[in-house]
Amino acid sequence: MKIAIVGAGLGGLATAAKLAGEHIVDIYEKEAMLGGRALTMNGISENYRKFIAKFEMANAFAYPSLEEIYGADYKIDLGFHLIGGGKRGACAKALKGIDGVDFIGSRLGYIGEKIAYPMLSFADKMKMLPRIIQLMTSRKKTIEAMKNMSMEEAIDKYGKGKLKTVLKIFPRLITTVNDLGRISAGETFFAQRELMGGHPVIYPVGGLKSISRAFASYIERNGGKIFLRHEVKNVDIDDGIAKGIDGKEYDTVILNMPVQHIFKVVGERHFENEWVRKIKGLEGTGSMVAYHVLNNLSAKLLGKSFVFLEKNDGFVGNELAGMIDFKMASQHGLLSPKKKYIVQSYLICSPEEAKDKRKWYEMAAMIDKNLEKLIPDYKKSLEWSIYNVIWHLDGVAKTVDNEKPSIVTPVKNLYLAGDSVNSKGIGINCAIDSARLIREKLK
Ligand SMILES: Cc1cc2nc3c(=O)[nH]c(=O)nc-3n(C[C@H](O)[C@H](O)[C@H](O)COP(=O)(O)OP(=O)(O)OC[C@H]3O[C@@H](n4cnc5c(N)ncnc54)[C@H](O)[C@@H]3O)c2cc1C
Repeated sequence: MKIAIVGAGLGGLATAAKLAGEHIVDIYEKEAMLGGRALTMNGISENYRKFIAKFEMANAFAYPSLEEIYGADYKIDLGFHLIGGGKRGACAKALKGIDGVDFIGSRLGYIGEKIAYPMLSFADKMKMLPRIIQLMTSRKKTIEAMKNMSMEEAIDKYGKGKLKTVLKIFPRLITTVNDLGRISAGETFFAQRELMGGHPVIYPVGGLKSISRAFASYIERNGGKIFLRHEVKNVDIDDGIAKGIDGKEYDTVILNMPVQHIFKVVGERHFENEWVRKIKGLEGTGSMVAYHVLNNLSAKLLGKSFVFLEKNDGFVGNELAGMIDFKMASQHGLLSPKKKYIVQSYLICSPEEAKDKRKWYEMAAMIDKNLEKLIPDYKKSLEWSIYNVIWHLDGVAKTVDNEKPSIVTPVKNLYLAGDSVNSKGIGINCAIDSARLIREKLK
């Protein structure tokens, strides 16, 4: 088959990598670079504000001003990025046999009254083990039944002691949603099974760019073609069947952009009103993402990740989950300049809260408060910091009331790839796992 993929985000690239060799694959990307939201930049440049706006993001604060921290001696992603599931996640699995990506992995610490690294001690695990084993080894059927139970109900039923804290934090991190009433318990327990390995979170050496580069060189070695700076304007559809793009014939067309944006290239008239209404109404997720650059950092923190929970009744869900990570800070990560340490952090919020300027100070204060718990005198070694907000972090939130669409669309030979679809995991894993589903469908 001749296949056109619209978008070289990780979803589009992973799909092309799965299909190249078996089919003729052309990828069209409107930007000058690969990777979509999984992007690593050489520092912050003059057009930073304009550039991040393309990704439904804004700069909330910068200290000193952005103009004063322009520079290219460091690399940063669009915002906080860690990949869940470690070696068991879809990203690591898809890269098996594809050279060029090395990961830094770690366990998760907890910023509570005291700092605990790892979050759960051996004794904690022993105490929780019977309950955890029962939940984690639940048969698929039981998990399916639990899909209709909200996390709030599950905590009432199962949550005691530290397990209660675990059940309050991880479902939020796994979905990027703070409202436990909207999170499906079954979905979360299924995802938590994937977090059971030794390194539940990983980050690629050299930044996210190394993942898109590795996929791209594999695709090209296998005969696929990638066209950068090539915006697709229209998917050609005839009698309910996708025939190509912008007048060029293809047997199959795969769209990789967030699903709410597909109508920019496919006329709504080709779908039933109900489908269009549903797709347009799907919600993404939101966050504040921050970078703090320090000129001094305890070696004890390098490479580690920490989670926290902040109580605040002024936000949806009444508690906000967040993370602070020191993988980019590690010199092994190849991102921080010598003797400088890039610390990345994020705080989950709703897309509306991310757009609400009145909430920005409160969110930044919550991040700083937790960084200060980890490093009480961090302000003494702070060179600069930036705080960005994003209201479309994931394509579609994985919640009970926001059903993710399938890779299959009502138009024949037109498919969806990326983090908007109903595949395993969220974010990067979800985007990459969509490739597996598409390949199964096209077999
Ligand atoms: C700040 C931030 C922090 C995040 N943190 C995490 C995290 O910690 N962990 C995690 O797993 N995920 C995280 N995510 C989410 C993760 O980055 C995304 O889930 C993933 O990168 C999505 O990949 P995708 O292929 O689905 O879509 P995208 O990356 O959006 O790719 C779509 C591509 O399509 C291109 N395109 C669109 N329209 C056209 C057109 N008409 N013609 C040609 N090309 C077109 C776009 O330019 C883009 O390159 C974060 C995202 C952001 C922005």
